[in-house]
Amino acid sequence: MSAAKIDIRALSKDELREFFTKSGDQAFRGNQVYEWLWHKGAHSFDVMTNLPLPTRELLQEHFAINHIAVDVMQKSNDGTIKNAVRLHDGLIVESVLIPTKTRTTACVSSQVGCSLDCSFCATAQLKRMRNLNPDEIVDQVRAIDQESKTYFSRPLSNIVFMGMGEPLMNYKNVLLAIDKITSADGLGMSPKRITVSTSGVPKMIKKLADDQVKFHLAVSLHSAIQETRASIMPFAKTFILEDLAEALIYWYEKTKRRVTYEYIVWKDINDGPQDIKALVDFCSHVPCKVNLIEYNPIDQGGRFNQADAAQIQYYIDALEHRRIPVTVRRSRGKDIDAACGQLANKH
Ligand code: SAH
Repeated sequence: MSAAKIDIRALSKDELREFFTKSGDQAFRGNQVYEWLWHKGAHSFDVMTNLPLPTRELLQEHFAINHIAVDVMQKSNDGTIKNAVRLHDGLIVESVLIPTKTRTTACVSSQVGCSLDCSFCATAQLKRMRNLNPDEIVDQVRAIDQESKTYFSRPLSNIVFMGMGEPLMNYKNVLLAIDKITSADGLGMSPKRITVSTSGVPKMIKKLADDQVKFHLAVSLHSAIQETRASIMPFAKTFILEDLAEALIYWYEKTKRRVTYEYIVWKDINDGPQDIKALVDFCSHVPCKVNLIEYNPIDQGGRFNQADAAQIQYYIDALEHRRIPVTVRRSRGKDIDAACGQLANKH
């Protein structure tokens, strides 16, 4: 039964080399297998044609390659593509290809479900089932790269960890995946084209800084007033704004890279002058930019509604007045439930 075998992609290059020396073969076979797995994206041992047949059979006997399978692919009328991805144990996550004129961005998931409880997010209604393995994250990226080549005649250019799950609650595997995505013997993408988005886990933001990561950091802020934030993102009662600010200062001191704040403006929740002032003040902690994101309604009994355009303009004016870069992000893929906050395995 292949399901009972260890997934070979859980092994490091050194462990692969060791497997071969212990089997009486040569260590460089480990490098060859590593290249097949991470550089060429092999789905089976049969394709590893530079290995002698008995070696391939040995691998087959000991290991599995639990590759993901794109179960359902949906296309939006704006070009966005959503993949429902089946994992080897039958669980499903979603990832999204977002095309613009010049870029293709992959929005990938890091967990099945989510450990956090943001009231406005559809993924939060699924309970967290498990963390994704590094290879399951890399497979999502590869699948989207392939789709980008097929449908847009260009490779994937950017990756955002803004799909299902909280990446910093699956820290180790997310970093291992990014290592495979960026390293020369993996996909060789620049870390500058990768953004990890977090709801704001202070301890792990500090750890990112200590680990000297080279990718970008985005924080889903949504309010710079502690009580308001905690009322819409209940975990923020524990991960308080003050600690978040301190962690971001630490991040900036160590990385010298500015932070992006993601922010939705809702009617009667955070659209008043005090909310704007709090955000502008919060932005003084570290160099940053603000991404105002459009709210994508999910079934919520009417608690959350996008604020009026005039209120959003007040935000823009106040931020621009303080020379804080601000962009307004239009939603993509709404018609297929592929937009921010809509990933919930509905199909
Ligand atoms: N847990 C991480 C990664 C998910 S990113 C994080 O929170 O950053 C998903 C982004 O979509 C977050 O910025 C989240 O706040 C936002 N989002 C969630 N629900 C949304 C909705 N209904 N409409 C628009 N954006 C939403």
